[in-house]
This record gives sequence, C-alpha cells and structure tokens, in this order.
Amino acid sequence: MKAYGSSLLCWTLLSVLALANVAEAASYPVDWLRSSAGNLTLDGVRQLPADRWSQVPPGETLNVGFDDADIWVRLTLPANQSGRYLEIGYPLLDYVQVHWFKGSQRLSSFETGDRLAFDSRPVPHRHFLFPVPSSAEPITAFIKVQSEGSVQVPIQISDAADLITSEQVDYGWQALFLGIMIAMAVYNAFVLTLVRNPAYFWYVLTVVASALVVLNFNGLLFQWFWPESPTVNRFFTAPMVSVNILVAAMFAISFMSLRKYSPWCYRVMQGVVGISVLGFFYGLFGDYQTSTVFVSVLAVLVTPLSFVIGLVAWRNGQVLAKYYVIAWFPFLLGHLVNAISKIGVIPRSDLTDTAPQIGVTLEVMLMSFALASRISLERKRRQAAQERTLEVQRQANQTLEARVQARTEELEQVNERLKALTITDGLTQVANRRRFDDFLANEFKRACRHQYPLSLILLDIDHFKRLNDNHGHLVGDDCLVRVASACSELIHRSSDLLARYGGEEFVVLLPDTPETGAVHVAEGLRKAVAATPMPQANGQTPLRLTISVGVASITPTRDHDVADLIRCADEALYAAKGAGRNLVMMFRASGSEEVESL
Ligand code: GH3
Ligand code: MG
Ligand code: MG
Repeated sequence: MKAYGSSLLCWTLLSVLALANVAEAASYPVDWLRSSAGNLTLDGVRQLPADRWSQVPPGETLNVGFDDADIWVRLTLPANQSGRYLEIGYPLLDYVQVHWFKGSQRLSSFETGDRLAFDSRPVPHRHFLFPVPSSAEPITAFIKVQSEGSVQVPIQISDAADLITSEQVDYGWQALFLGIMIAMAVYNAFVLTLVRNPAYFWYVLTVVASALVVLNFNGLLFQWFWPESPTVNRFFTAPMVSVNILVAAMFAISFMSLRKYSPWCYRVMQGVVGISVLGFFYGLFGDYQTSTVFVSVLAVLVTPLSFVIGLVAWRNGQVLAKYYVIAWFPFLLGHLVNAISKIGVIPRSDLTDTAPQIGVTLEVMLMSFALASRISLERKRRQAAQERTLEVQRQANQTLEARVQARTEELEQVNERLKALTITDGLTQVANRRRFDDFLANEFKRACRHQYPLSLILLDIDHFKRLNDNHGHLVGDDCLVRVASACSELIHRSSDLLARYGGEEFVVLLPDTPETGAVHVAEGLRKAVAATPMPQANGQTPLRLTISVGVASITPTRDHDVADLIRCADEALYAAKGAGRNLVMMFRASGSEEVESL
C-alpha cells in the first residue's frame, strides 16, 4: 500500500503542475469548415467567403467525430518575432497539412499525419508540432485534416520556452504512468507465478493492454517503436482496444467469480468477450473507419456496464465486487471528465486531457490492491474452515473421551462387583472364607505391631445335619441365611468382620478387642440365634436353632501364628459341643472354660 500511496502523491503533484501550466497557453479564435466532396484546394479555401466558416467556441476543442471528409481550420495569429509553435494534440489523425500565409504570401507548408512516416514531422514529437514563422505582421494558418478515425483538432500556440516547460511536465506524466504500469504488471506477474490464480493472469494482461492503448493514443508507440512503418498505425488502434476490452472482461469474470454470483452478469460479460473478439478481427481485416467507430462504441458501453455489473455482484453477496466497483470508479470518472470537457461543459485543461490516463492508473493500482485483498479474504476463509474442522475434531474427541470415561466407570463398577463377589459368600452374603483369611492375616500382623488384643469367635450350628435330614437342604440353606443375618445385626463395628467359615460354621474376628469384649459379643450371638425363629415354607411351626461358640483371645507376638488363634477357638468350640451345645466356651491353655451366661 505504501508504494501506491507515494505513486498517488506524485500524480497529485503532477496534476497541480499541469493545472498551473494551462493558464500560459494562449488561445486564439479558430474557424473551421467541412468539405465532404474533398475537392477544395488550398487556394479554393482561401477564396471562400467569410460566411462559409464556422467559429469554434472559445475554450472548446474542435471535435468533428467520425468523419472522413476534409476538415479545414483557419487560425490568424498576431505579429510576433519570437519562436512559437502550433501544436495539434491529437496524434491519431491520418493526414495533417499546415500552410502559413502572410497576406497572400505563402510562408511555409508542412504535410504529415500518422499515415506518413514519423520523419515527415517538422518537429519529432508525439503530437503534431509546427513552427510558427516569425513575422512583423499577423499571419494565418490554413490547416487541412483528414482522418478515418475520430477527428479532434485540439490546437495550442505556445512559445518555445513555455513548450519546453510544459513538455517536461507532460513527459514526467508519461514516464510516471509507464513506470506504474510496468511495476504493476511485473509485480502481479510475479504474484501470478506464485498463486497461479487466473484473476492475476487477466489482470496482468489488462494492465499491459491498457498501457498500450493509452500510449498509442498519446502517439508514443508510433514514435518509439515503428516510426518508419505508419501502416502499423492503421492496424493497431482498433484491435488493441478490442484486446483491452476482452482481457478486462475476462478479469471481471474471474475476479468476481461472476458465474457463481450472477449468472446473468456472467453471460453479459461473455457476450462482451465475444464482441471484442469480433472487434479484434474486424479491426485487422475490415474497414478502418467502421472498426474504430465499432470499438469506440463498445468501449463507451462496456465501461459503465462493468461498473453496473460490479454493483450487481456486490449486491449478490460478492464482497470483492466492492473493491472492483471502487477501482472502476476513477476510470469511469476520468473518461467522463474528459468527455464533458470535449463538449465544453467544463473548460478543457491538461488535467481534463489526462483524466482518462489518471483514471486508468488509479484503476490499475486499486485493482492490484483488490487482488491482494482477494488473497487475504481467501486466506481468512481457509483459516475459518480449518478452525471449523478443528472444532468438529475437538468435539469428536470430547465425545470419545466422555464415552471412554463412561465405559471405564462401567468397567470399574463391574470390577467392583466382581471383586465383591469373589470375597462374598454366595448364599449368606457375608464375607467368605477367602476374605476372612486375608483379613485375619492383616489384622494379626497389625495386632502384633501395635500390641493390641485380637479375639476370634468361631460358631457352629448345633445338630444341623439332623435339620437337613429332617427338613431338606433348602430349609437348611434358609436357616444358614437367617443365622448369618441374625449375627451380622450384632456386629456393628466397622473394624469387625463376620464371615462364613465353611458349611454351617461362622467366624467373627474382633481386632483391638480383649477377651471380655469378645465373650460379650459371643454370648450376644448365641442368644440372638436362639431367639430367632426359622420359619418353614409350608407354614409349619418355626424351627428353633442353637449354636455352640468357641472364643479365643490373644495379643500376638512374633512367636505366634495365625493358625494358633484358629486352633484355640476351634478347641473351645469343640469343648462347647462336648459340654452340651448352645454354650459359649472361652479358650484357656489349661482347658477351655464355660462362659457364664451374661
Ligand atoms: P453338631 O455340630 O451339633 O455336632 O452336629 P451337626 O449335625 O451340625 O454335625 P456336623 O458338623 O458333622 O454336620 C454338619 C452338617 O451341616 C453337614 C451338612 O449336612 C450340613 N451342611 C454343611 N454345609 C451346608 C450347607 O451349605 N447347606 C445345608 N443345608 N447344609 C449344610
Ligand atoms: Mg460343623
Ligand atoms: Mg454343626
């Protein structure tokens, strides 16, 4: 953007200089007439009565339009000795003759035009420049112009010093214009090789074509490239304008993605492309005058049309069309200013003459900026798409994570259940033998470490075999469940453990519990079982069961073994059975002793 900024500044400075320059150009009354038959000779013209001449309104340029008749122009200059020049600032005229007269005396004559070699010009200049003979009396110029293209005769008389001054500014303009065009074309051609986007391709061609058209209109291509081949001029203008319209239309199509945003505008632009192809070939092989009229009309129509198409695409949601419209605006404005200055609505000046060129330059620079913003827009869109993909991925990951977590929790629960199953007795739902063995081993070590008493209660249902035999195994199982639940109701401490030891035997391990406490619990168990009725399925009178209980208590040392504690409790239990059952016996080394019923 910085480069564009400074270029713009240069343009502005130059236009101020050019405006300042306009005041110095003297203007003189200009008369003209049209000779369609082409049979008027120079002498004939000089003899014509005054009423055959029409005056060009002061400040306006003689603009005859597309007319291949002979146009005669008459101009009388006051006496002046210093070197002066007559300039006709429209380089596309086919033939131009200038004859200087002082009264009836012919002073000098020149014949040139863009159908004649460049060295036919008295001054080698892109415009037609003729020296004004110095004279002590007023002198008159008779100018004959004939051209198959548009006939415009902008006449200016300047003295040599003014001409050099304005020429420098003017050439500065041209150099700057050409420099910007080359820079834009080369820079964007580089970008094209990197991004390979067709919009860049058409843009570069548009810049080159626009530059060639403008330089051709300024007479510079003829002067620089084919001064000896005026025939080229006849085949260049119309085809080149056609190419310019063609590539500009292709650029509009691809830059704004017209096919997508407005199929209607797309078809119109395709039509423009088709017509410009026709214009190109007609310019090469058809009639010169018709072809120049044709491409001029085409250019006049396509310029505002492109603007409108940009607006339509913009309205249809193409953000880039905004830039297109903005870039196209100075182009339109430049040509508009030029056109209305030609018809005299605003005064003609160097600025109005160069307005189209300024418009082209601004358009080219703004379009280059638009292309850059297109790239940035595409990058933003790509980024947004990437972010969307990432978001979708992130959400998918989250869902997956949540699922994995749920599954893990389920698995953990199943594991917990499995673990519980492996340590629970399937029938009575109290701890099983395995759990008891682990628990006992741990508690035994702990009691050994902390030196606290560990008590074990071993209980066995009395005459259970008989119950099984009399009432069946199912009733036996039911009784086992009831005994277990009656016992577990009495085991409140979380540190205690009730377990099924095997068959109809249960154990209770009481860590940190002395003998007295254990006996108390054992007696409680015995009474509870004795007090629990065991209902039978068929409604018969409930059965009564008793248990025999052996208790052993120990504060273990390193010399003791887990098996010792079990053996002691078992011994006490055996003693209880022997002593008549439904008893609690406390183990003593000297022999188990019955516990007093509490
Ligand atoms: P006592 O202990 O009073 O000397 O007599 P008892 O009949 O209980 O004798 P013993 O310990 O020899 O018999 C245990 C019986 O318990 C053997 C078996 O029929 C029964 N039994 C063991 N386990 C189960 C079980 O899971 N379900 C049922 N229904 N009966 C079992
Ligand atoms: Mg038994
Ligand atoms: Mg038994």
